[in-house]
Amino acid sequence: MDIIKLKLQAKQSITVLTGAGISAESGVPTFRGSDGLWKNFQPEQLATLEAFQADPCLVWEWYDWRRKLIEPIKPNPAHYALVEIEAQTEQFTLITQNIDGLHHKAGSQNVLEIHGNIWKVQCTKCQCLSHNSEVPIQILPTCRQCGGLLRPKVVWFGETLPAKELEAAQFAATHCSLMFIIGTSGLVQPAASLGVAGKQAGAYVVEINIEQTPLSNIADETRIGKASDILTDLLS
Ligand code: NAD
Ligand code: ZN
Repeated sequence: MDIIKLKLQAKQSITVLTGAGISAESGVPTFRGSDGLWKNFQPEQLATLEAFQADPCLVWEWYDWRRKLIEPIKPNPAHYALVEIEAQTEQFTLITQNIDGLHHKAGSQNVLEIHGNIWKVQCTKCQCLSHNSEVPIQILPTCRQCGGLLRPKVVWFGETLPAKELEAAQFAATHCSLMFIIGTSGLVQPAASLGVAGKQAGAYVVEINIEQTPLSNIADETRIGKASDILTDLLS
């Protein structure tokens, strides 16, 4: 029998790391594909503090475009498969690099959003956090408390990850018997290093992706294919 199916049935501790690929089948563009582009800008040119400081309108227009795109989108069978696995597992942690909120929408419970959430905003002056689901969002959005400029509560290139989430993610990666790495290019750090940490701590690491990535070298197995097909098949 399939070794992963056996491990799933053992219902031990499972940690999952997801990236943009798991939401691609729902219609959320990945960063590496050409459909991830907006007005010919590379995401790396827009998702930085420097870009926001230089031209907050431009960066907010890009986020407004992404929020409009994400708002009507529904989770796909891969998101739901993870909800099912969580329900069957004693200790389950889902670490996601995605900011689209689709794991929560699907019903996942123990989710660590290590790169933030596109529906949260933070004041650049008083730092207060709030939820904002306006589509379109007023450009430039300002803080209700102090009038300061709001920014998306997402981790930009060059910024550090929220300490609490990162610590919890590192713990989950190093305290699981089975680890799935799904739909991530393995190019963004420190997220990719969580897979390495899991492997070093003794987890059986399974990568699911439509192509090989740098993480394929450390994975015990790489299953090439769409996340929804492979996860649905594992649960059948
Ligand atoms: P990435 O765009 O770098 O890579 C996506 C990966 O998914 C690729 O390796 C690709 O081969 C794979 N993939 C594509 N379709 C797939 C499918 N159907 N099944 C399985 N795999 C599939 O994404 P990343 O590694 O997450 O890193 C990019 C950064 O961009 C992250 O920080 C993330 O926060 C952010 N981002 C998030 C979203 C989102 O929230 N949905 C979308 C784009 C980018
Ligand atoms: Zn404020």
